[in-house]
Amino acid sequence: MGAITLDRVSKRFGQVEVIRELSLDIGAGEFVVFLGPSGSGKTTLLRMIAGLESIDAGTLTIDGQRSEKLAPGQRNLAMVFQNYALYPHMTVAQNMGFGLRNIGLPASTIEARVREAARMLEMERLLDRRPAALSGGQRQRVAIGRAIVKEPKAFLFDEPLSNLDAALRVRTRVELAELHQRLGATMIYVTHDQTEAMTLADRIVILNNCRIEQVGSPMEVYARPASRFVASFIGSPA
Ligand code: ADP
Repeated sequence: MGAITLDRVSKRFGQVEVIRELSLDIGAGEFVVFLGPSGSGKTTLLRMIAGLESIDAGTLTIDGQRSEKLAPGQRNLAMVFQNYALYPHMTVAQNMGFGLRNIGLPASTIEARVREAARMLEMERLLDRRPAALSGGQRQRVAIGRAIVKEPKAFLFDEPLSNLDAALRVRTRVELAELHQRLGATMIYVTHDQTEAMTLADRIVILNNCRIEQVGSPMEVYARPASRFVASFIGSPA
């Protein structure tokens, strides 16, 4: 569950074609990082997978189903944004359960899922607080918790650590790796940070100017960069 295939996908904003015939296979359960400088197309790709941006040509399939047949809500993907996007008037528990209430799950199921996610993230004691009473790191955990309770096939992370301080970034990175181990879900993770990519990814997709420069394991892209751009961006020995 959670295999995602892009086949010659193109994307235009107005008259400008930013992505041209891009193809990529993401295996079920894989941790894939989209790595590249600002403007390289990472977020646009992630948003197309999530169904938040349309696709102008080519096909996107999720577990063999064509994306045209799947509304964003039917894709069973959960996106975690860099600004957390929490509702200020709701408690942590309500924020985490909100999406589940919308799809009509019974209150007992929602509560059980929220408790389990809170336990996993070690934030049970925060469940009754509101976002204003949380640190940045705690808010990010709520955003991750809100994704976990959906029990998605795939998690989509858009620069999830960029608003955290250095120590918390390292800690949250380790926790995300553990979460991946535990849940076995597909994870697609956007970042411009090479260290995050090298430490988290099964495979890194290196983007430049909205094109794929190289796809490979951290070792492969480091030891055998496919282009000068990759070598300099990853910091491989010349
Ligand atoms: P990244 O996430 O790597 O910073 P983006 O996916 O945000 O890159 O952007 C890729 C390209 O698409 C950039 O050239 C950007 O200017 C353009 N772009 C992104 N979103 C829009 C939009 N809504 N309208 C016009 N151009 C856009």
